[in-house]
Amino acid sequence: MNAELRDLYQWVILDHYKKPRNYGRPPGADREAEGVNPLCGDQVHVYAKLEDERVTEVGFEGSGCAISTAAASLMTQAVKGRTRQEVATLFERYHDLVTGHGDVDPESLGKLAVLAGVREFPVRVKCATLAWHALRSALEGSGETVTTE
Ligand code: ZN
Repeated sequence: MNAELRDLYQWVILDHYKKPRNYGRPPGADREAEGVNPLCGDQVHVYAKLEDERVTEVGFEGSGCAISTAAASLMTQAVKGRTRQEVATLFERYHDLVTGHGDVDPESLGKLAVLAGVREFPVRVKCATLAWHALRSALEGSGETVTTE
């Protein structure tokens, strides 16, 4: 990753941290789950509305580090309008992106690519995936609190 791209990615992450998108409980949300990352102190509560297997509304609340907040904010933008299966597939590819596993093309993940740098900081992977784990719990219907421990 060149320095210019890295700066741009950092700017996008900070922007989503300061101005989280889809913050709060969206109207009609019928699924939710909590994610906790004790290692960093991140806590995120994810809400979703599922209609005909499609995520029509999604939002989050919580507090945490810049990575966890930006990741949750970017996630809500990425999954809105997608089917539950598409979200599961996207999470797999995103997980490969932030862990550095597989050979996923960052470009194919759209804005989520800004979190590619996390792979250089393994402890931050939990921050970057916390909201996704919570969303998966919410969409699978268990709604159980997920913890990274
Ligand atoms: Zn964190």
